[in-house]
Amino acid sequence: MVRLSNDYLKELITEYKPYTTKGEVMTGIPGLDELNQNDLGVAVMDLNHNIYSAGATDVSFSLQSASKVISLLIALEDLGKEKVFQSVGMEPMGDFFNTISHLESGDVHRPFNPMVNAGAIAICSLIKGDTVEERFDRILMMLKTITGNENIDMDPDVYEAEKVKGDRNRALAYYMSSSGAVALNPQDALDLYFRINSIRLQVHDLAKIGLFIANGGRLIEQNKQLVSPDHLNTIQAIMMTSGMYNESGTFAVEVGFPCKSGISGGIFSAVPGRYGIGVFGPAINQKGNSVGGAKILQRISADLNLNIFNQTHTHDIKKSAE
Ligand code: GLU
Repeated sequence: MVRLSNDYLKELITEYKPYTTKGEVMTGIPGLDELNQNDLGVAVMDLNHNIYSAGATDVSFSLQSASKVISLLIALEDLGKEKVFQSVGMEPMGDFFNTISHLESGDVHRPFNPMVNAGAIAICSLIKGDTVEERFDRILMMLKTITGNENIDMDPDVYEAEKVKGDRNRALAYYMSSSGAVALNPQDALDLYFRINSIRLQVHDLAKIGLFIANGGRLIEQNKQLVSPDHLNTIQAIMMTSGMYNESGTFAVEVGFPCKSGISGGIFSAVPGRYGIGVFGPAINQKGNSVGGAKILQRISADLNLNIFNQTHTHDIKKSAE
């Protein structure tokens, strides 16, 4: 079996960089332009806090949709699973992340799940705090604690761009408010949503978020249980079924562990009980997922035998624990 090392990851970057030409960079997001087309970076962290990385590890980018996992986690901590899923469903949607039509069809006019925009906006309305700033600070603090990176912050330019281009998200929020299916204050929910999309970080931070999830919400270095492990089970199931836009099924089959992506090209992955993985490759496909990043995840999964549905792998873990 392949041994994880910086050299191994460097080989993957070299092998999959050519695929970055097959995607498109979302140049409307401040900080990303055509010059980023060939950027490709990866970081993998294990439970002993060893971190291996290669490629574009020093480029920072906005979290975009990957922020939806952190807001869901805080809402679960604040209200519990039952209450959260009264406002938002837990089913995969199989349509574009910002679709409106699904809110009107079906028996219940709730968003399909917390990973689509409507669902994430509804989740933002659940997070406790007196003001939007206070609620945002709780999310930012959680990210700083998970990553140990005090420098993570919102990028004001990205935030402005989210607001300027946010009409589709406004439509979703005001529609949910008018239908009464989700009780929310649209302005506040949207403001928080725009802010969390704008949080800027690097690929190492993504690996640390992935590891935190893979480790059931326990901070390894502090040996501290930060959030209930039950919520991490929920989070991982939602990531697996809906984390990769309407390509989540493909990722479940081809990669086989929970992942969440954003349109700036970042993906974080949790390999339960083993690794956190971050990839960054801003050239994305038509579904919104990093083309090079997807290749790397697929390859790491195969090389290190990380597909959680592989019974042989479960058997190996059991044997080594005996
Ligand atoms: N910020 C954009 C939006 O809310 C894109 C989010 C994403 O899918 O990464 O529509």
